[in-house]
Amino acid sequence: MLMSQIYSPTLRETPAEAEIVSHQLMLRAGLLRRSATGIYSYLPLGLRVIRKIEQIIREELNAIGSQEVLLPIVQPAELWHETGRWDDYGPEMFKLKDRNGRQFSLGPTHEEIITALIRSEVRSYRQLPLSLYQIQNKYRDEIRPRFGLMRGREFIMKDMYSFHRNEEDLDKTYWDAYHAYERIFSRCGLETRAVEADSGAIGGDVTHEFMVLADAGEDLVLYCDSCSYAANAERAEGVPVDNGNIPENKMNKLAEEATPQASTIDQISEFLNVKSSEIIKTLIYLADGKPIAALVRGDHNINEIKLQKMLRCESLELADDETIFNVTGARVGFAGPVGLKIPIYADYAISTVINAVVGANKDDYHLCNVNLNRDFEVAKFGDLRATEAGDPCPRCSGTLVGARGIEVGQVFKLGTKYSRSLNATFLEENGKETPFVMGCYGIGVGRTAAAVIEKSYDEDGIIWPLSIAPYQVIVVPVSMKDEKQAEAARNIYKELEAAGIEVVLDDRDERPGVKFKDADLIGFPLRITIGSKSLEKGEMELVIRKTKEKLSIPIEDIAQKVLQLIKEA
Ligand SMILES: [Zn+2]
Repeated sequence: MLMSQIYSPTLRETPAEAEIVSHQLMLRAGLLRRSATGIYSYLPLGLRVIRKIEQIIREELNAIGSQEVLLPIVQPAELWHETGRWDDYGPEMFKLKDRNGRQFSLGPTHEEIITALIRSEVRSYRQLPLSLYQIQNKYRDEIRPRFGLMRGREFIMKDMYSFHRNEEDLDKTYWDAYHAYERIFSRCGLETRAVEADSGAIGGDVTHEFMVLADAGEDLVLYCDSCSYAANAERAEGVPVDNGNIPENKMNKLAEEATPQASTIDQISEFLNVKSSEIIKTLIYLADGKPIAALVRGDHNINEIKLQKMLRCESLELADDETIFNVTGARVGFAGPVGLKIPIYADYAISTVINAVVGANKDDYHLCNVNLNRDFEVAKFGDLRATEAGDPCPRCSGTLVGARGIEVGQVFKLGTKYSRSLNATFLEENGKETPFVMGCYGIGVGRTAAAVIEKSYDEDGIIWPLSIAPYQVIVVPVSMKDEKQAEAARNIYKELEAAGIEVVLDDRDERPGVKFKDADLIGFPLRITIGSKSLEKGEMELVIRKTKEKLSIPIEDIAQKVLQLIKEA
């Protein structure tokens, strides 16, 4: 390809709309342009990167026996009503009507469509397992689209769905996909960490997110400094602690203290001169509409996902002021476990607090020297607190470290959630109608490209790995007007192209500085520079973008050297 013909409008200045490096560089290198908020046009070089990532995905998924399909973007509302997600999905779903008033969505995901397809086609256990995937645009009307391809409203995603007779069969495909994902991201030049993630409020389904640790990431990941444990922070497990029974002789006498204007942990801590770890926070929730109390230590935060899992409830929300008053007899900020008539659930760490400070269930008062079992009882202990960096590892004696992560993929055991709600069954060997056991597996294709840039750039621009670079090599004659240089450039360009290498010839009549700047900005992994002096010596200069290493190589050897470098990569 000739540089003079590539539509790649590079920018010298960083556009104001771009906050993070990958977004800035994709705009500056002419890979991408914004059409509307969170909606982008991919220009030729950007699209080549996307297509290469897609190709790697196809190769690895085909290798584990999955088959490519293409499902509709426009999806009938009826299917979404069957699973109850037409309403549950909320304002993130783009909805539209056809000329007859029939409702549709622009697919934010495809569980409904694919399950409905399979339920009318696959009837026997003999046809299982079955795994299908597609690479296609998805639509989510994000409340805050940002960071270019990181969080768009229209984005390219690979989604795969698998159908099984039972859990064991799903387990096999789940781990096949997991290992395929490791290979896909590694081939894209990305180091990922598979972290345990939350699978939603109900059930104990397994799910892993593939995270690229990078400052631009929107997720918080906790990982162990000495073993392989890693989890999304909202899911990370806490370590059970138990103080045993508190000896009676250590318990001080229960006392009521006036605490006017002190209702937050910081205020109480200061007012009563106690550490926040000596205070017990009492939170009143409505679980499926019924009030319950949850206790965490004052220096800890509650994790509502964990609480909801423990309670096995469909809905969980903080109680309103009126409920809090009805339950505690006091306004917000003075709830405590002593004398409460509703079920009390507590984080493990509560059992370690001796002579605690709690709300008195009375406006402007707290109780001091409150002790478990003597003064209040707990219905159930569990891991309810938000795990944080610095906490002990739940698997070994190491410590958890926090990092930002970009989620590039997820593998997920759905179980029978969709097959049951869509009544998708097959006939088992014994003739029994059985719901399919399902898995689903996503990769953000554009986000993967963005994550590569976040991990691989310098002050001059993008540094693409050879595997997904828009082109592998650029040939840059210092002056196209110099006939010797131009001829040598055309010759090496043709030679490389004939060898199957993806090569661009910068044939523009520009100053060498401009050409080098563009080459570095776009991020061609290899650059061959042709100047008069090196030509006289029978050499060309090969520049490695990543290391900026410059090699003088005899003209007759250079194609071989390029081939060798590509092969090594
Ligand atoms: Zn560990």
